[in-house]
Amino acid sequence: MVSTLPEKQPQKQEVTGYIHSVETCGTVDGPGIRYVIFTQGCPLRCLYCHNPDCREPHQGKLVTVDELIADIQHYQSYLRQGGVTVSGGEPLMQPEFVREIFERCHELGLHTALDTSGYVVLEAAKPVVAATDLVLLDIKSFLPETYRRVTSVTITPTLELAKYLDEIHKPTWIRFVLVPGLTDDPENIRGLAQFVAGLRNVEKVEVLPFHKMGEYKWQQLGLPYELFDTPAASPEDVQRAIALFREYDLNVQ
Ligand code: SF4
Repeated sequence: MVSTLPEKQPQKQEVTGYIHSVETCGTVDGPGIRYVIFTQGCPLRCLYCHNPDCREPHQGKLVTVDELIADIQHYQSYLRQGGVTVSGGEPLMQPEFVREIFERCHELGLHTALDTSGYVVLEAAKPVVAATDLVLLDIKSFLPETYRRVTSVTITPTLELAKYLDEIHKPTWIRFVLVPGLTDDPENIRGLAQFVAGLRNVEKVEVLPFHKMGEYKWQQLGLPYELFDTPAASPEDVQRAIALFREYDLNVQ
């Protein structure tokens, strides 16, 4: 006798991840107006980090992708002019979570951007990158010793990711934080500019001036803040850095 009972479908397990916060109307993390998800957890220890409370992987809020997508849908009409960015922390510490968010965003017709330091095992990053329309790659310095001083880690994985993004023609913006007395050495900037000029997928370079707004978080967390006496980067500092990038014919802002 043939059974008429419907076959039981295996339940898809809900994908979860740790986030620090969301911003529903972001304007600085990719094109247009964006829903920005800041993930929790970061392996870097940037001296200028304005979100040091993002470091520890399991201290944020545990959410499901369903919950995030339901919230994103509230803003869907204006997000069509921009999209969804996942930033951090370091999003690639939770690759399955981010890939699922991006695939669900694509089902809604929304543009996706990944803001990453690139400090990740390349094979783990590839499936996320495949679901990403635009990568915002933060290259925090170029001279290896300066990079390590700024971040406490090596630059090698970041450069490997940059080369992979070039190989697969993934639209990419490079972001560089200009810190007076730390990353502003012309040799450091020219080295980065020369490297980036060799990549064919880079649409633009953003020079982000170091600011002092995150300082109070270090104090609240009782963490030693080495840049206490470092001044914010001035508009003139930024223009000098931009001029160095332009020597290499880069589109820089
Ligand atoms: S990569 Fe970003 S979140 Fe991580 S330490 Fe550096 S500035 Fe902070």
